[in-house]
Amino acid sequence: MADSRETELRRDAFVTGWPIKHSRSPIIHNHWLARYGLPGSYRAEAVQADDFAAFFSALKEGGPYRGGNVTIPHKEAACRLADRRDDIAEELGAANTVWLEDGRLTATNTDPFGFTANLNQQHPGWERTARVVILGAGGASRAVIQAVRDRGIGEIHVVNRTVSRARELADRFGARIHAHGLEALPEVMQGAGLFVNTTSLGMDGGEAMELNFTALSSNAVVTDLVYVPLVTPLLQQAHDQGLATVDGLGMLLHQAAPGFEKWFGIRPSVDEDLRRLVIADMERHA
Ligand code: NAP
Repeated sequence: MADSRETELRRDAFVTGWPIKHSRSPIIHNHWLARYGLPGSYRAEAVQADDFAAFFSALKEGGPYRGGNVTIPHKEAACRLADRRDDIAEELGAANTVWLEDGRLTATNTDPFGFTANLNQQHPGWERTARVVILGAGGASRAVIQAVRDRGIGEIHVVNRTVSRARELADRFGARIHAHGLEALPEVMQGAGLFVNTTSLGMDGGEAMELNFTALSSNAVVTDLVYVPLVTPLLQQAHDQGLATVDGLGMLLHQAAPGFEKWFGIRPSVDEDLRRLVIADMERHA
């Protein structure tokens, strides 16, 4: 009896991408499964781009999974192939979280939530500013633009090496978004209350730009989506220049929470234990 009840309660979820072995999502979700004493599992599924459509449609045929996370290179395909997508995924054109609802695969993107929740936790009041500067115009930038726009911030300046990509995002996300090349940084940083790096600059010891953060408003906060290393060259510069900083690891942790709730029924909390666990894994693989 106990066994069949456990089978009934058991739920499984996945993360799929290619490659997938470096994903930290299994550490996060299996930590929460253990913490809340839930039967079930969260597993990595390595799926190549050509096989993704078949993997995705098989999910509807009653396999073990309630849903899962989707990462590079499948985020756009997941959004397109889902039976339903919410407004967030629809606008971003990319999904990172899917679940079965009434037999239909439903998709969202939890990166905007993760970005906002991290700042809410680490630097409450961050949104009380009239101007934001976002460096970068790739996939991660879209989520950040959507998140800050939806918090009602008036002026959002997207600055990118390839200015045409920033322009595409300004066209997509509306009149409050302004596109610039890198040369505009000193000007648009004047008086801004939030600076976000969404480029891959500074990742894994790579080069970063030298920036004068003192042009930002004195109570501004600087955050970086890159979280390996935890203190990126940009965060170090901002700190040395007297600005508040928030690292990007919290975004990774917070974006995981809505999916866990969809699959396993409990809204998990992001706390220091989880953060320490992921940092320990980062140190093991440094
Ligand atoms: P992406 O789509 O490849 O975009 C990369 C961006 O970086 C583009 O704007 C690109 O500019 C810029 N860039 C790259 N090299 C540059 C250089 N040498 N000089 C100036 N700009 C440069 O990547 P993504 O998916 O947006 O991810 C960006 C970063 O965010 C990655 O490090 C990723 O790990 C991180 N991320 C973190 C989280 C989190 O939860 N913390 C979530 C998502 C992503 P061009 O357009 O000119 O090429």
